This record gives sequence, C-alpha cells and structure tokens, in this order.
Amino acid sequence: MNEPQLAPQLGKIISQSTESDDPQILPSRLTTVGNMSVRRALPKRQRRTIGAWCFADHFGPVQVHGTSAMEVAPHPHIGLQTVTWVLDGEIVHRDSLGSEQLIKRGELNLMTAGRGVAHSEEPSGSTIDIMHGIQLWIAQPSSSRNGKAAFEHHVSLPEINFDNLTARVLVGTFGEATSSARIDSELMGAQLTLSIGESTFEARSDFEYGIIVLEGTVMLEDKMVIPGHLGYLHPGRNEIRIKALEPSTLILIGGEPLNEEIYIWWNFVARAQDEITEAYNDWKQQTERFGKVDSHLPIIESPLPHWISSSS
Ligand code: MN
Repeated sequence: MNEPQLAPQLGKIISQSTESDDPQILPSRLTTVGNMSVRRALPKRQRRTIGAWCFADHFGPVQVHGTSAMEVAPHPHIGLQTVTWVLDGEIVHRDSLGSEQLIKRGELNLMTAGRGVAHSEEPSGSTIDIMHGIQLWIAQPSSSRNGKAAFEHHVSLPEINFDNLTARVLVGTFGEATSSARIDSELMGAQLTLSIGESTFEARSDFEYGIIVLEGTVMLEDKMVIPGHLGYLHPGRNEIRIKALEPSTLILIGGEPLNEEIYIWWNFVARAQDEITEAYNDWKQQTERFGKVDSHLPIIESPLPHWISSSS
C-alpha cells in the first residue's frame, strides 16, 4: 500500500520500554489508502515497532461495488517487506520486477523492497462484494536492506490446530509450524482463528508481541481487544493467554525488539534522512532504481519532504 502523508511528525523511531502497562491497548488511527479507509495499528507514537514489524493497516470489511475494489497506483518502497493477507476479496499485485499476481483469501504476498522496488495494487476485474484484509511492513535489517528486491506468493501456508484455535502461519514459526516465506530477522506472524473460549500458547520470552483483531472480541490476558485496537505485550512471556468472547480472527505478530533506530518517511524505511532524500530524488526523477510497473495507472508522486525546500 501507499501512505501519502506519513508524517514528517513521525521522525525518528526509537524503541520504547515502559512496562507499567502490559498488555498495552492502543487505538488504531483511521486513515485512507488509495480508495480504502484503513485502521492503522502501527506505527503509533507510543508504539513504533513490534519486533521488526513497523506498519500495519487493517482494511475492511467493506462493501465494494463490482470492480471498484482496492486501487493503489504505482509507488516505491525501500528497506522493507510488505506482507499482504486477504480475508475477503481479491487484489492484483504488479511490481517493477515484472510480477503480476492475483491474491485471494488464504494466500500470502510477500514483497521485499531492498534498495528499491515499485508496485501497484489493483482490482482483479472479478465481481467481488467485500474487501477485507491487512497489509503489514517489516523493516529489513541492515544485512539485507540494501540488497535486491524480490517477490513471493504463497498459496499454501502451514496450519496448526490446538486449544480452541487454528493458526495459519504467514511468516516465521508458531508452535511446531514454520512458514516457508522469507524472513530476514527473528520474527513471526500468524492468523489465529478462535472459537469462543480460552486459548493458551507458547511464546518466546525474547519476543515482544502484538495482536490486531480483524473480527470478533477477545480478552488478551485481562484487557479487551476489538477491531481497531492493537494489543501489545512486552518481552518476557513464556506463554500468551487469549480468551475469545465470540468467534474471532486476529493477526499475531512478534519479534525481537529492534536494536537499531529506523526512520520511516512516506513509503521508505531507512536509517537516516539522507537515505530518504536519495530515494525521494530517485523516485521523482524516475531513475532506474525503482524500475517500471506495468500498470495503466499514473504513478503516485511523493510528497515533498519537510526538510527539502520547495524551491530547490
Ligand atoms: Mn506499497
């Protein structure tokens, strides 16, 4: 997806550690991406990252009419992976690597930007009624963030059942199941489908975790979490206890807290402002860095970084 106005005010991202509020419940911010309204769970001023997860937009469920579903024109990324997961509806992904991939319910799109990639998200042309899904970003570590771009589509993801819940593992490991999707750092992401009642599952004590409820209502330990809220758990747990008050679907993300500062501006994840300026200029001048997306949509122009004078 694309974030047209992501914050000059966001600035430097520094990991926080106040353990007084645990679990911590944070309301998502309502915003729009392309023609969709989204609930942005990450980043928040009070919670910028969970492991290397640095962005999470929950879109829908929303009634769409015919083919007027998700449409986000070509735009660039650096230094991150996009994880796209659809519960209802379809999206066509096109990127500057030449990928063209329809994504449907239960399938995973994972795009690695590295030093640069561009992509679009477009309606499939099929008649669909409802769009519902989530897109997350993972900040790439220094070891891979200047590397090559890549794209993966996973039709079959491991699933495990226990204790009132079914987990579909998107990336990393949950329980005994490990996704074959590429990860560049120690993290995990899974969809948990819960029936009414309590579930307890193993956690890694070196991971921090977050839950984003897509449908339903759950108690995360003693705190209620509903769609539009992020539930955050500090590191140090060996298990996590969730009680579904109604049939519920949520995304569980976790990872080792980042040990470096990241800088997010617009669609770019970097470590310093100079890197953002360079990416801004390369997109503005349409250099070869990002390549071309085979799309009929005109590219999205970057907003002007606040540190660059409009006359320059
Ligand atoms: Mn995007």
